[in-house]
Amino acid sequence: MRQFQFPYENEDKFVNSLRKIKQWCNSSVTSSILFQIYTYTLNRPKVETVCAIIEKELPDSYIMGCSSNGNILFGDYCDSEVVVVCTVFEYFTTQIKLLQFPISPENAKEVTDALIHEVEANSWCKCVMCYTTIRGISTSDFCDDLRNLPENIQFFGGGAMNIDMNSDYAFVFSSVGSISDHSIVFALMGGEDFNVESTYITGWKPLGRDLLVTKAEGPLLHELEGKPAYETYYKYLRIKNDEHFFNNTLEFPFFYEHNGIHILRAPTAATEDGSLVMTADMEENVKARIAYGDPWTILKNVDEETLRLKEFIPEAMFVFSCAARKTFWGVESAGKETRPFQSLAPTSGFYTSGEFLRTNGFVNQHNVTLVVVAMREGKRNLEKIQEAELNEQEFSGSVSMINRLATFIQAATEELEDANEQLRLAAIIDGLTQVYNRREIQRRIIEEVEKGNKNSLIMIDIDDFKQVNDAYGHKEGDEVLIKLAEMMKTICTQNVPNSSVGRWGGEEFMILLPNTDIKKAGIIAELLRVSFAAIDFSEAHFQTISLGVAEMLPGEDADTYCMRVDGALYQGKRNGKNQVVVC
Ligand code: GH3
Ligand code: MG
Ligand code: MG
Repeated sequence: MRQFQFPYENEDKFVNSLRKIKQWCNSSVTSSILFQIYTYTLNRPKVETVCAIIEKELPDSYIMGCSSNGNILFGDYCDSEVVVVCTVFEYFTTQIKLLQFPISPENAKEVTDALIHEVEANSWCKCVMCYTTIRGISTSDFCDDLRNLPENIQFFGGGAMNIDMNSDYAFVFSSVGSISDHSIVFALMGGEDFNVESTYITGWKPLGRDLLVTKAEGPLLHELEGKPAYETYYKYLRIKNDEHFFNNTLEFPFFYEHNGIHILRAPTAATEDGSLVMTADMEENVKARIAYGDPWTILKNVDEETLRLKEFIPEAMFVFSCAARKTFWGVESAGKETRPFQSLAPTSGFYTSGEFLRTNGFVNQHNVTLVVVAMREGKRNLEKIQEAELNEQEFSGSVSMINRLATFIQAATEELEDANEQLRLAAIIDGLTQVYNRREIQRRIIEEVEKGNKNSLIMIDIDDFKQVNDAYGHKEGDEVLIKLAEMMKTICTQNVPNSSVGRWGGEEFMILLPNTDIKKAGIIAELLRVSFAAIDFSEAHFQTISLGVAEMLPGEDADTYCMRVDGALYQGKRNGKNQVVVC
């Protein structure tokens, strides 16, 4: 694999460059040629000219391209409006197939079905690279459907964009389709000697506490913790809902877990009702946290990935980097996070409106992320291993102020969360016996009764417990209560994992057994009775309990239900104690 990269300046220079490539191809063994063209303006005539020249000079080559938010050549941000990357494959086994489909949320399934069919029909295929016009379109279904790609197929790519961050307009094109503002282009690549590895880097780290997504729909994030989502940005970061909103929030996307990995999602705008329009879908009931970008962390991650990919001995690197990262670094410094890859192999790519990557079988749409793809033909040739030029000198040993502050906030947040958890438990747990307190067990019973599902109750009272206190002291009495509670928790969790044990009062306990009929509840009660009777306390030795058992009747309310089980227990007391009464 050999790569040529150049900014497009004018027709003559371009023709010259292509002729040099042609010469090189004539003197070498080559199989196919892939052109990738990126343009940050929406200059269709220019793109048409570029494509026409390629088609004339190198008619058998494959062409794919898209509009971008900025172009990357030789591992650095490139000022040129249009750039051309030409990859010449040298192994006859290497194959490429281009596909272009119109895409909209309605036909996403047809497109993924067609792609999967093509991938399956071309067993040489090892990866799929895509450019797509997706901004403002929900891609969840599209990504979910791509899960059905054969297991070993890597998938990566980027969303087309243009230099204007606030515009949704973008186009893609290829030698198998026309320039289109609603299309997706796929390049199937593979063959016996073709090797590919793909990965992603964010470098963004979560900040502060979890915020539950309570209302979301496609790319609209309505509410966090029951409040308009926009308020989070104002409350924590004082970001106003004005024309700078997009730029201000880009550096603080949300961080959340999706398909088992951490994903970033940035808002593009806030609506009047305080909802956030996200760059891609976010689902309800996930916990999101605000994240921040820290140059030190990012470059450290880039260095680590560079060292890892060095071992792959790549011949070409392709990057899909989020437009937000360009904004974050500024065009002068953006190359810092892509240049180390250039030290391994020619690195090119573009700034996208969304990055796609398949990880653990799932295709995810990322934001604020750098997707990196390494390719090579043939076996690893250790003689060709390159020395990686890393950022480490610049950043070694130092930790940025933002990193220190974020660590501080993180540590303080964790302490507060711990303290909150302690308070929450203190409010529902009985201090002596460590089972639920009366209020909590009652709340659980009411909740279960309201669900209307089958459930049973066991009520327990220690027999002649007053005498234990009188004869051996309160401390020994406490010990009996603690041991009884422990024993009940163990036996109940073993038999009904979602059961709840609570202290009803003094030496009375109540057990809620969801999804348990009276027969099973009776058996558990008898087990409790026998187990308690077998405990030999240090002073009080052997003690007994009486138990009432009831199963909820249809339509019964919680009060009547509890009174009924209390009645059963009372009957056990009258009948001579140390027994189970089922009613
Ligand atoms: P019965 O078999 O009829 O249930 O007789 P009993 O003696 O167990 O019943 P009674 O209601 O007369 O006595 C309950 C005793 O439980 C009275 C009280 O001192 C004791 N008790 C209540 N809470 C605690 C506690 O937290 N620790 C100790 N050690 N004793 C307690
Ligand atoms: Mg008692
Ligand atoms: Mg009692």
